[in-house]
Amino acid sequence: MTNTKKIQKFLARRDVPTPFLVMDLDLVAENYRKLKTAVPRAAIYYAVKANPAPEVLKTLAGLGSNFDTASVNEIDMALASGASADRISYGNTIKKEADISTAFAKGVRLYAFDSEAELGKLSRSAPGSRVFCRILTSGAGADWPLSRKFGCEVAMAKRLLLQAADRGVAPHGVSFHVGSQQRDPKQWDSAVAEAAEMFRELEQRGVTLSMLNIGGGFPTRYRKSVAAMAEYGQAIEESLNRHFGNRIPDIIVEPGRQMVGDAGVIGTEVVLVSTKSDTDARRWVYLDIGKFGGLAETMDEAIQYPIVSARKGKAERVILAGPTCDSADVMYEKADYRLPIDLQEGDRLEIRSAGAYTTTYAAVAFNGFEPIKTYCV
Ligand SMILES: *Cc1c(COP(=O)(O)O)cnc(C)c1O
Repeated sequence: MTNTKKIQKFLARRDVPTPFLVMDLDLVAENYRKLKTAVPRAAIYYAVKANPAPEVLKTLAGLGSNFDTASVNEIDMALASGASADRISYGNTIKKEADISTAFAKGVRLYAFDSEAELGKLSRSAPGSRVFCRILTSGAGADWPLSRKFGCEVAMAKRLLLQAADRGVAPHGVSFHVGSQQRDPKQWDSAVAEAAEMFRELEQRGVTLSMLNIGGGFPTRYRKSVAAMAEYGQAIEESLNRHFGNRIPDIIVEPGRQMVGDAGVIGTEVVLVSTKSDTDARRWVYLDIGKFGGLAETMDEAIQYPIVSARKGKAERVILAGPTCDSADVMYEKADYRLPIDLQEGDRLEIRSAGAYTTTYAAVAFNGFEPIKTYCV
């Protein structure tokens, strides 16, 4: 929600056409320090997909951040920021084998997997690398859950990690992600407990793991307030102590949203204010940005950005929609959004806390995956 002087000054410019995202790099640096203070024992691997702007990556690289990447393009972006390959994790559990070979050739030696087939690819194309297995979590408590698609059950994860050494890679550890915009600091606990149990059982069977990757999920402030980072840090530290005792492994965190969310504001323009009938006064407000232009996380109204107008009129309920000719391009209809009654087309609005998952979701190479090309024959 922070709206710094630098951001305000930029938003006041009328020569920059909307929509745009303005990021304050000082806030990114502040968020990095906040996380480092809250979880001092953890190595920070910034999840590049949250906001891959070169200036953001460079700022974080300069502060000592490592990088969690999902594609060769993201690895290249992390390398271009000044981070060496030993500071990069290839954390996507779904990789083409050719991309693993490319990453390996670039020096990346830390890889995620959650299936036997993926372990096979790593053993062939990233020999000797450290590998970690992602386990399933429920995603409970998260506004943007990442459950089901990623991770495998604990029993399978154990079996695969036991196999890893025989397959020429180093069984390094376990990872999980409790769901994005996780509003409950206690949600890390059950996954930490499961991981600790895995560490113990594998040790008995001759495999010593040394790393636990507790993922991202740390929140940014949108319309609703969130717990302070210190509360997350404390809950996580307590979990680690409770379940690992005096044998806490190396800890990795993979923040995305927390690092950049509140460091950015989108400037947008009102294209049209209208009603649908002579008797229904509810205003539809159409902006020049929508679901397909960067606000994908408004899907099911999951992420609710604070939206601010400079006008002073009484605030009344509105439905907010994007500019495209697709009826799915409606951001907020059920959520209680109110804008001044004197709002006019041509007005500029601020969409705050918009630094995470906006430019990337504008669909050009999300997560570094190139957009589809057209071949006319
Ligand atoms: C997206 C992603 C993250 C970042 O999640 P946030 O909720 O934004 O912190 C971390 N790890 C992995 C593997 C991811 O895919």
